[in-house]
Parts: sequence; structure tokens; C-alpha cells
Amino acid sequence: MNLLHKCSVAALLSLICITRLQAQESPPTAALKRLLEGNARFAADKPRIGAVGADRRKELVKEHKPFAVVLTCADARVVPALLFDAGLGDLFELAVAGNITDKAILGSIEYAIEHLHAPLIVVLGHDSCGAVTAAVNGAKLPGDLGWLIKQVKVGDNLPADKDAKLAAAVRNNVRAAAKDLEERSNLIHEKIKDKKVNIVTAVYSLKTGNIEWLSHQEKKKPADVEKKPAVEKKPAAPSSNTAAILPPAIETNYVEVRRFPRLRSFFERLRE
Ligand SMILES: [Zn+2]
Repeated sequence: MNLLHKCSVAALLSLICITRLQAQESPPTAALKRLLEGNARFAADKPRIGAVGADRRKELVKEHKPFAVVLTCADARVVPALLFDAGLGDLFELAVAGNITDKAILGSIEYAIEHLHAPLIVVLGHDSCGAVTAAVNGAKLPGDLGWLIKQVKVGDNLPADKDAKLAAAVRNNVRAAAKDLEERSNLIHEKIKDKKVNIVTAVYSLKTGNIEWLSHQEKKKPADVEKKPAVEKKPAAPSSNTAAILPPAIETNYVEVRRFPRLRSFFERLRE
């Protein structure tokens, strides 16, 4: 094989490899897609029934690698593994009334992203949330329950309409919890900064089974909440929705080749 032929083959191979590697989604996006698709099946009453049998249990004895962390309300009607149609070992779930954050929650999430390498954190609220309703109504409750309700952050300037008010408060609270996670944990902050992990927020509809994903762009437009309660919205098609949910920097800056420095230098040598 002459030199020209060798160079042509090498260039072709490198082009194919780079195209394939760059076409891969970032881990946070791939995780989000799995959640979108799982919820679409659940809401359509067509659950795949995730891997929960003897084989899967055996597989999980040595280790588990959840693909997402879900911080949600402890409400019995909100069960992440079911509503995302996930299997055993797929989700690292944290359930606490009002999906609030405290040190135990932060430590648990730090464990999941640092040691189990979960690439996505979902803060999931739900409509008709009792904890958020109590916070909106300014309920004075005794003991630890009173402390918990004070941690629910419903936000300011809520709409006057009762349903719209609760819907806005639920959304404000999930966003506040997501902000809390990043601000109170250096590890979470660093992982997000390094684009290893991302946080998304969402609201579950008890009636429809749909998850409404809150766009990162919506943070600048809270007035939208007043016009339409979360329960009436339908999520966009799973395949096209991730870009609106995840900050764009995740995809535009993510190149799988970065994870393989030797492979990258090989490609760079070929290009020279
Ligand atoms: Zn709740």
C-alpha cells in the first residue's frame, strides 16, 4: 500500500470515528431522553415494565449504576420508578414532602453523582401538593412538620386565582430546590460546571400521568405560569424536547472525544 493510499484510509477512518463519537449524546441528555420516553409510555398506559426480575436482581447484587437522581415529594401518588417506567437500579430516588433540600438530601445526591456517577438530577414536584398548599396558605404547623413547611419556597407575586397560584408555587418550589442544590453543594456545583452533571426541573400531573419539564429558558418568563396552570400543559415530543430542558452549553460544548485523551491525540496526529 503506497503512502497516499495509507493516508487516505487513515483520514477516512478518522472521519468515521469522529463523526460517530461526536454524534453520541452527552450522558445528561441520554439520561433525560430515557426519562422522557419512559414517562411517555407510562402516561399512555403502555409501560414496558422495566427490568425487575430475578436476572436483574442478580445483576444488581454487586453494584448499581442509576442513570438519574430524582428528588421528589414523598406523596404516595408520585413514584418515580413507575412514572418513568424504569427498572430496578435505574433511579436514585430521594422523596421528602415538598421536595425540599437539607444536608441529608445534599449528601445523598453527592454520593450518587460522585460515587455512582449519575449524570442527571431531576427535581420533581407535582400538582395538588399538600406541602406546597400548606406553605401557600401560610399554615402554622407544630413541630418538625412546621419546620418542613417553612423550607418550601413558593416564591413571590403569585397569581390571585387559587389553582394558578398553587401551580405557580409548585413550579417556583422545584426551581428553588434545584437552585439550592447547586448553591449549597460545592460538589454539585463543580460537576455542573465541568458538564459532568446537569439539573432539570419538572412537574408531574396526578391526573394525566404526564411530566411537564420546565424549560431552562422559562426561568426568565415567570408570567407564563399565571396564564396557564401546569396541569393543563402537555409535554412536547420526547425526541425533540431535551434541548429546551437542558442548558444548551451541555450539548454544544460536549465532545465525547474529550473523555479519551489518547484517542484525541491520535486523531490530531492524523490531521497533521
Ligand atoms: Zn407533595
